[in-house]
Amino acid sequence: MERGREETRRIQAFRNAAAVILPLPADEVVARAEAGTLTQLSGIGPSTAGVITDAVHGRLPDRLAKLEAAFGPLVQGGDEVRARLRGDLHSHSDWSDGGSPIEEMAFTAIELGHDYLVLTDHSPRLTVANGLSVARLQRQLGVVDAINEHLSESQFTLLKGIEVDILDDGSLDQTDEMLAQLDLRVASVHSKLRMDAAPMTKRMIGAIANPRTNVLGHCTGRMVMGNRGTRPSSDFDAKAVFEACVEHDVAVEINSRPERRDPPTKLLELARDMGCLFSIDSDAHAPGQLDFQQYGCERAHAAGIDADRIVNTWPRERLLEWANPQR
Ligand SMILES: [Zn+2]
Ligand SMILES: [Zn+2]
Repeated sequence: MERGREETRRIQAFRNAAAVILPLPADEVVARAEAGTLTQLSGIGPSTAGVITDAVHGRLPDRLAKLEAAFGPLVQGGDEVRARLRGDLHSHSDWSDGGSPIEEMAFTAIELGHDYLVLTDHSPRLTVANGLSVARLQRQLGVVDAINEHLSESQFTLLKGIEVDILDDGSLDQTDEMLAQLDLRVASVHSKLRMDAAPMTKRMIGAIANPRTNVLGHCTGRMVMGNRGTRPSSDFDAKAVFEACVEHDVAVEINSRPERRDPPTKLLELARDMGCLFSIDSDAHAPGQLDFQQYGCERAHAAGIDADRIVNTWPRERLLEWANPQR
């Protein structure tokens, strides 16, 4: 449902029901399914109860069967690029404005075959997205360590990251001490998107020149569709910005969210011609959205971008060395 971008409210009903059922002892769930009393639990309605009852009886729930029957590629093309991807550098959990716990994001990334996922919740100034203070980010790093300990048998690593706001003056919205503790940092503009071109260019280059920055997130900030409405690209000197990316070894993000499609094709081709590195990111705010990467892969393929220039085709060690040259 998340992958198909169904209504958040309907998805949330299933996620809430799962959260209610998960901590209960199995025999209680079975007894309630038999007695028809699942709906007495707060957060479980008739349709989620039906799904749970089917599952208890070992039956494939109709709802799931229908979704699986409709399952197909999100977009045609880009399969070779997708096959080369080893991970995803941009994702959110319910610690900021995502809809699911960190571990659910990690489990889904494992199912998708990723070797790594970078958790990049928002930074403090983005209060609408519940951005993480120093203290909360510090706590989150402990949770990431604990999850990785649980997953130590697998090939997969959850990496520590941030989507850090680029402030008006080009500085980054987190302390350097915290940024230094992370594995990878995506820097994005989320405020004053309509700034004049000259100060916006300066602002973006300031962030790119920061030695902590690894990825320039959704560079134009545009919205091409969706329930948040549309908005145009920010004005900036793209040539100067991409030049700075090359100089400072910062990857230009191909943001795969269908409502963003950022950068637009002309800019994507400009960045390609200027020799930029790229990352193809889902910017997932829910586990099912991690699959959005397919959209970005199709665009990278259409633009003829060599897979070796896409940093998330690299093995984890190479990625970490690139992202942390000062270590
Ligand atoms: Zn963002
Ligand atoms: Zn994001």
